[in-house]
Amino acid sequence: MQIASVIVDVPTKQTDRAFDYFIPEQWRGVIQPGMRVIIPFGPRNIQGFVIGLKAESEFKKLREIIAPMDLEPVLNKELLELGNWLTESTLCFKIFAFQVMLPAALKAKYEKKVKLAIGAAVADLPKPLHAFFENDVLLDWEDALKSGIVPLLQKEAAKGHLEVIYMVKERVKKKQQKYIRPAVSLDELIEEIDRIPAKAEKQRQVLRYFIENFNEVELKKLVTDVNTSVSTVKALVEKKLLKEFEMEVYRNPFEHRTFKRTKPLPLTEAQQTAIGPILNALEQNQHEVFLLYGVTGSGKTEIYLQSIQEVIEKGKEAIVLVPEIALTPQMVNRFKGRFGDLVAVLHSGLSAGEKYDEWRKIQRKEVKVAVGARSAIFAPFENLGIMIIDEEHETSYKQEEMPRYHARDVAIERAINHNCPVVLGSATPSLESFARAQKKVYHLLTLPNRMNKQSLPSVEIIDMREELREGNRSMFSRKLFEMLKDRIEKRQQSVLFLNKRGHSSFVMCRDCGYVVNCPNCDISLTYHRVNEQMKCHYCGYESYVPKHCPECNSEYIRYFGTGTQKVEEELGKILPEARVIRMDVDTTGRKGSHERLLTDFKDGKADILLGTQMIAKGLDFPNITLVGVLSADTMLHLPDFRASEKTFQLLTQVSGRAGRHQLPGEVIIQTYTPEHYSIELAGRHDYDLFYQREMMIRKTHHYPPFYYLSLITVSHEQLFTVVSATEKIVSYVRSHVSNEAVVLGPAASPIPRINNRYRYQCLIKYKREPNIIKTLKTILDQYQKDTKSGLQVSIDVNPYILM
Ligand code: ADP
Ligand code: ZN
Ligand code: ZN
Repeated sequence: MQIASVIVDVPTKQTDRAFDYFIPEQWRGVIQPGMRVIIPFGPRNIQGFVIGLKAESEFKKLREIIAPMDLEPVLNKELLELGNWLTESTLCFKIFAFQVMLPAALKAKYEKKVKLAIGAAVADLPKPLHAFFENDVLLDWEDALKSGIVPLLQKEAAKGHLEVIYMVKERVKKKQQKYIRPAVSLDELIEEIDRIPAKAEKQRQVLRYFIENFNEVELKKLVTDVNTSVSTVKALVEKKLLKEFEMEVYRNPFEHRTFKRTKPLPLTEAQQTAIGPILNALEQNQHEVFLLYGVTGSGKTEIYLQSIQEVIEKGKEAIVLVPEIALTPQMVNRFKGRFGDLVAVLHSGLSAGEKYDEWRKIQRKEVKVAVGARSAIFAPFENLGIMIIDEEHETSYKQEEMPRYHARDVAIERAINHNCPVVLGSATPSLESFARAQKKVYHLLTLPNRMNKQSLPSVEIIDMREELREGNRSMFSRKLFEMLKDRIEKRQQSVLFLNKRGHSSFVMCRDCGYVVNCPNCDISLTYHRVNEQMKCHYCGYESYVPKHCPECNSEYIRYFGTGTQKVEEELGKILPEARVIRMDVDTTGRKGSHERLLTDFKDGKADILLGTQMIAKGLDFPNITLVGVLSADTMLHLPDFRASEKTFQLLTQVSGRAGRHQLPGEVIIQTYTPEHYSIELAGRHDYDLFYQREMMIRKTHHYPPFYYLSLITVSHEQLFTVVSATEKIVSYVRSHVSNEAVVLGPAASPIPRINNRYRYQCLIKYKREPNIIKTLKTILDQYQKDTKSGLQVSIDVNPYILM
């Protein structure tokens, strides 16, 4: 096996296939499928993934692999196959499919360097460059830029004296620590101690330490334990009585925390009924998808924990997915509390190095459970016993860049390979999942009641139009204001929720209604109070708020929309005695601040927690008795067929924050459209009726779960080019699908221009189209090959964002 098939780190159509490389003698038997290697590609050295080995190649002149980057494969056989499946099912480049399965730290970074070309000498270069290239050094491109010698370098490169190379650099180093251990036997140590001169009492103490604990110990710990110095220890190392060595240690992001260990709770009857079929599937090593449908606080997590317990006892492993924003320390504690060090946690709050360490624990089989956000579904376990997706309805489980995968689909694909169950949990299941459960594709398990037998909090819906009519122009209804005041007097806590999604602060002229848009994108600029600037969230364009309206010259041009800061200000005016903690992207940017703010709130350091989506989940504090939703309907007006579903889910979720313990909870929902069914039914906690209503609408309009969707988006700088290309695509699709399919387009995208590129789309709705993937792939291939035209075509199979 002297040839390796390698997927190279160049994401283009032309390079989206395996290339054959010759394995030099020294690496034969070492290089294996699933390892990363450094390979020459064109003029550069880049990274690639070995996907297979073979004895012969159909190509004659093969280049050689330069070196392996791993000592053991980073992708096992199952994950390599999963990569192929991802490539096929999401229509992405192979290299993206492999990269997405690895922690960011293992994604290659390239360093640009300049070196003397082969055959050239320092003397060939002009004098000013000599110092840079003496002793064969590689010059950092960054340094070259700083020194202002780039033009000189370019001239010399053109003459063939210099060349630019790219070096693959690993992003993180494994963290090493110094350890000390005895270099001789225990008997010899005891003998040696007497030979040490009395004046070197410190050295004797160190040896006594090792006689008592004949084991390895970290150098730092040794020095503190014996109260000695590094030089004393080194002296003994020089005498060859002790030995110093380095060992990999993990950065432990949870180091400062202790976890209170918990024991399995005796399950209630409802929980027993629900867990039965899961345990049964585990017993039989049987693949099955369960939908665990239960309101917040109904005991789903305890079911997850006990199912995992069973999996661990069988010697297998578990993956638990939790949406990024719900991955709070509280959530993590529940798993660490039950399974201690057997749990690895993967979330975006960790540094690249910490994430890599957690991933290594999984790879080295030191843990049994991985808890994490979306990408944790690729945890490199080899003996999976269960995969659990909590809050399965969350759209953050869909990745919005290549590969555009949904974690639920990946889980099911992996579970089939491992013959194991998947548990999807939610209080408000996605319509897709609930419909599958109704059709018995998924096995429905229900937990109808809250654990504490508390009824769900009472919800009152306030019509804000009515408030306005009666002269209340504040963002707080009179009722909400009264209740906030009441809670402060009773020393109970409130949560105020501001729905920011689809609702940003924009700048508008009060006289003529002119809205300031981005000059590059057809979308309004977002006002940022911090620097008093307006910014485009799509292309990054920034500008100051104009003093006068560009249309009518009125000076009444100002920003609209309510940000959390503005709410905080208003609270300060109307309830000056309230202590408020604000949680949004601005206050939680720094590492650990999220946790600190929550702890402060939990410790009673504030009366009101004010925040965005971020606070909708996972909060479980006994003293919260009031939840206020400031603007329930901002999401309803988005061009998204899931808008009602998302509104219902979010309101239900937020309401669930109140009254989870002894004290009963109340919820106030403020809205301008109280009659909308998603708001009304969320107020009545009626998922079943919501499901029925929404299903009817989906059926009428040919949307999921009745139809599948695929979205093709085309963009180009010239409007004409976009429209005609989209037309061609639409007619190609039409001629390749059955009559049952609906092909819409060409139509301008809801955001018709981003970064000066016009955007058009074709939306396909279909039921059974066995050839659809092939058809879409043909379209992609066609346009990806043709890079000169400047057309960009992207395809999202089962899209969650239609903009
Ligand atoms: P969910 O995940 O559905 O929101 P949890 O599993 O968090 O619900 O349960 C809600 C509360 O009830 C938690 O405080 C949990 O510790 C408690 N709980 C769950 N199951 C039991 C049980 N069998 N006996 C006693 N308390 C339980
Ligand atoms: Zn104006
Ligand atoms: Zn823009």
